[in-house]
Amino acid sequence: MKIGILPVGEIAPDVLLGVQQGLVKTFPDIACTIIKRVMPVPKLAFDKKRNQYSSSVILNEIRSYASKHEKFHGVLGVVDVDIFVPELNYVFGQADTPGRAALISLWRLKPKFNGESADSDVFVLRALKESIHELGHTLGLPHCPRSFCVMHFSNSIFDTDKKQSLLCDQCYLQAALAINNLG
Ligand SMILES: [Zn+2]
Ligand SMILES: [Zn+2]
Repeated sequence: MKIGILPVGEIAPDVLLGVQQGLVKTFPDIACTIIKRVMPVPKLAFDKKRNQYSSSVILNEIRSYASKHEKFHGVLGVVDVDIFVPELNYVFGQADTPGRAALISLWRLKPKFNGESADSDVFVLRALKESIHELGHTLGLPHCPRSFCVMHFSNSIFDTDKKQSLLCDQCYLQAALAINNLG
C-alpha cells in the first residue's frame, strides 16, 4: 500500500516525518511518501460564523488530489487549522470509509492548545494516532469498542491520549486483509 502525506498549508517537517515513520511501523506492507508540494488551505473551507474550517471541503480537495495521483492508494492530508463537521464542535480528522482520502488537523493536538507545556514527543504521538485512525477508516475499518485501540473514537484529547498508537488484533487483521486486497 502506497500512502502520500500531503501538507495542506505549511506544516512543521518534524511532525510529517514522525507520522511517516510511525505509519510504516503500524501497517503491514506500507510505503509512505511525504509529498513535496504544499496544497493551500482551500479558502472556501473557512466558515466566518464558526471561525473554523469545514473538514468536508478540505477532504474534497484531498479526494480530488488522490484521483489525479493514482500511484497512491491513500492520501493523508495534514492541516494546521481548526476543522469541524456541522454536527460537532470540532473534529481531529475525517476520512472516506472506505476510500482514498483522509485528513487530520494538528490544531487541537498541540500541548499548548490544551494548556500543557510544549512537548514535541506528545504532539507527534497524537498526530500519529489520529493519522493511523483516519487511514484505518480509508481501509474500511469502523470505530472499535476497545478504548486502547487506535480505532476507538476520540471525543476529546483525553481519549486520544488514552489509546495506544496501535491497532488491536482484530482491527490489525481487518487492515491487513484490506491492504492485501489492494494487490
Ligand atoms: Zn473515526
Ligand atoms: Zn480495534
